[in-house]
Amino acid sequence: MNYLDIDTRDPDEYLAAVDALRWEKLKKQIRYVWTNTDYFRPRFLEAGVSAPEDIRSLADFRRLPAFLDKARHRDSQEASLARYDHPLGLHLTTAPENAIHLAATSGTTGTPTFYVFSKKDLETTYIVLGRMFQVAGIRPGDTVFHAFGLSLWLAGITFVQALEAYGARPVAVGAEGGVPKILRYIELTRPRVLFATPSMVKQLIERAPKELGKPAAALSIRVIGCCGEPGASQPLFRQLVREEFNAQVFDFMGGAWHNGCITCDAKEAHGMHYMAEDYCYRYDLVNPESKAPLELRDGVVGEAIHTALEYEAAPAFRNATGDIFRLHVGECPGCGHFGARLEILGRADDMLMIKGVKAYPAAIQKVVHEFRPRLSGELRIRLFAPPPKVEPPLRLVVEAGEHTPESAWPELARALEQRVRELLTFRPAVTLLPFGSLPRSGAKTKLIEVTPC
Ligand SMILES: [Zn+2]
Repeated sequence: MNYLDIDTRDPDEYLAAVDALRWEKLKKQIRYVWTNTDYFRPRFLEAGVSAPEDIRSLADFRRLPAFLDKARHRDSQEASLARYDHPLGLHLTTAPENAIHLAATSGTTGTPTFYVFSKKDLETTYIVLGRMFQVAGIRPGDTVFHAFGLSLWLAGITFVQALEAYGARPVAVGAEGGVPKILRYIELTRPRVLFATPSMVKQLIERAPKELGKPAAALSIRVIGCCGEPGASQPLFRQLVREEFNAQVFDFMGGAWHNGCITCDAKEAHGMHYMAEDYCYRYDLVNPESKAPLELRDGVVGEAIHTALEYEAAPAFRNATGDIFRLHVGECPGCGHFGARLEILGRADDMLMIKGVKAYPAAIQKVVHEFRPRLSGELRIRLFAPPPKVEPPLRLVVEAGEHTPESAWPELARALEQRVRELLTFRPAVTLLPFGSLPRSGAKTKLIEVTPC
């Protein structure tokens, strides 16, 4: 059965139905990864599981510890390189010759880790990505201009192939082509859809008049799919794209190990609509400290363990992602879609503890962004000792907006303190700085600064 056929508008009934679907597939997948004696079987044995039949229910499965994470993934790759002369990992669960497609993480925080696909894994990936293309209103026959980085990124060649399998016509210039070439080829191919990161979209808006002699809104693009950076879900970015590009925005996340989520194009994003219930268990949420499984229901917050339900080659199987999600189950207030939605709150290793209250920098940033343009949106969290424990009050440094008079600063600081108190249940001490005083260094700017006093 396809999960899209689950016919209920009741959140609990919906979760029970997808749980039943998951468990049917998991029973087979547990037996499948058990056959991997280099990596997965030892993890089962360490966890006290002496045979696949020991895991008798989804609840049993959820009580298992994490088997994989980024560091262990890297070690597994290194070990297979030494032992078998390939980097596919000791956790490879198929013959190396069946691994026909590779993508990799960016490697900005260490050695890149590979996503390995068998032919079947690729075909399922095309199905999942195809569902997302459909939500974004992409139609077979559409010309889709692809300006994501092509070099090994999953949103690169893998997305290009998925577009072809879907019946769309990708023009794969890639971010590597550079802004002038991208703009020239958009004019040349007249795509209706553009795939690009938020920062690339902004550059295209800025440079179109100079390069082409016309504004971005005069181009043929009416749908923009973003991923790879935060930003595409923010109301200000969406408004900018509507005004300057005359296009709808959808924020994509997925493709890895059959994960697939997308936002709708509502003014405010209401989380990533989960489109892969039948292939991937991406919101097996655990308590970020105790790692105990949390009861899944609308509104619960936890760290996500990722398991692909029928993946063949080097699967995510109890993979600790470090992502902190809030799970929403029900009807999306933006588009009416019924199902699970994931709101990304931050990373487990970014967690702050302020007198027992958990807070994530990304959640604090979201509140600061509500105050734009009165604030610039730039911020730093200044700590006097390494996280997670923070001696209250948490010190939050923000920048005034470009046109905000200094006389308005004290009132703004108080309003921000109050808003954080309302939404995140702790009261920070806010300091305002003049516009432009915090260094900008792109999407991966560290929001936390630790200065021992
Ligand atoms: Zn929606």
